[in-house]
Order: sequence, then structure tokens, then C-alpha cells
Amino acid sequence: MKILLIEDDSMLAQALSKAMANEGFRVCVAPDGKSGINQAYEFDPEILILDLGLPDMEGIKVLERLRQDNINIPVLILTARDTVYDKVSALDSGADDYLAKPFDMLELLARIRVLARRLGTAAKNVVTIGSVTLDMAANMANINDQRIILTRKEYLILQALMQNADRVLTKEMIERKLYDWSEELSSNTIEVHVSNLRKKLPNDFIKTIRGVGYTIEMNQAADLTKQ
Ligand code: CA
Repeated sequence: MKILLIEDDSMLAQALSKAMANEGFRVCVAPDGKSGINQAYEFDPEILILDLGLPDMEGIKVLERLRQDNINIPVLILTARDTVYDKVSALDSGADDYLAKPFDMLELLARIRVLARRLGTAAKNVVTIGSVTLDMAANMANINDQRIILTRKEYLILQALMQNADRVLTKEMIERKLYDWSEELSSNTIEVHVSNLRKKLPNDFIKTIRGVGYTIEMNQAADLTKQ
């Protein structure tokens, strides 16, 4: 699992990235907000650890910018300030958790494990949402144990959405994932693939968020099984 650490204190950044690497995480360190935002795209992390006091911009601005760009990965805020106001404003800006400096390394690792667990489906080989099951070891999708035949691209789009259930993925994010996973990038066809994919899935399984992208909701999907 990839973690982006945006922290300007190089001693701390080094210690944290070493501890996280020991836990099996791939860590990228960015020393300021601007390079952090760039790495959020380049490195494509699954978790972000963000220091609030950065040399070039407030960490909160980094977070706001990423959320505006629909980068919805879990974010753990690190800050020297520990007031209720800071905590609330960090959470209001879209942070998932908050840790005041100085903190214990074991505490940080425990919090990261919670975020990683919450990501849950991303680490599993089999994901079930409602009546749809995706077996990523076998590259297979089933509806109520009946295999459905998907093209490679349809399968990869379904995988991207099911692994990120309850997150909205933009067409650009889906394209990037397809590019990571497979051979060529054929842009402008995401809509076509999604439309074909939908015909093979339960009604409304993939929701369109107009002007933003697509999502599969855990709960909405669970209701389908009752129909
Ligand atoms: Ca700092």
C-alpha cells in the first residue's frame, strides 16, 4: 500500500518513512505543499499523511485542493497545534484523522493500520457488494454466483469502482487506473465501457455523479439483493 507523507521536518519525515517502510508500506516523502500536491498525482498514494505547518502553504490548503480535485484517499493530519478548533477545521476540510505532535510512532502506525483497514476492499482479493462479487485473483465477476462475461476494460473499470466503493471516481481517475493496470490507454471511451458494463450489472449498481464521475455505493448495492 502506498503512503504519501507531506512533512517539511526532514528528521521526522525520515524516521516516519523508515517506520512505515518496516511495516511494508511504500512511502513517498514530499517536503512542501506544492510538491506534495504533485506527488498526490504522480505517486498515486492510497493514504496521505499531512503536516499542517508547511513552508510554502498551509496543510489545510493542500487538503482542500486535493478534495476539490476529487482525490478522496484517507488523510491523517499531523500538527504541532492541538486545539479543538484545529481539529474541527482539519476534519471539516476532509481529514479522516488527526494526530498532535509530539506523538508516539506506535500510535501513528496504529492509526495508519485503521485507515488501511477502512480501505479494506482494496487489499482483499474478493470483494462482494450486494449481489456482485469480484474475484481479483481469478479476474472474474459473478452475480449471485453466476459468472458474467466482461471485456478486459469493463472488468478493470468494475474493479476500480468496487475497490473504491463509496468514493466517486472521475473519468480521469479511471483512465489512470486502466493505464496502470493494462496495456494501452484509449481515452474518451470510459463512458462507452461504463454504459456496456451497466447492461451486465444490476440496475443502478454504478451511479453517475453528474459532472464528476461514477461511484458504487456499498449500501445502495446491498438493497439490490432484497429486490
Ligand atoms: Ca512542519
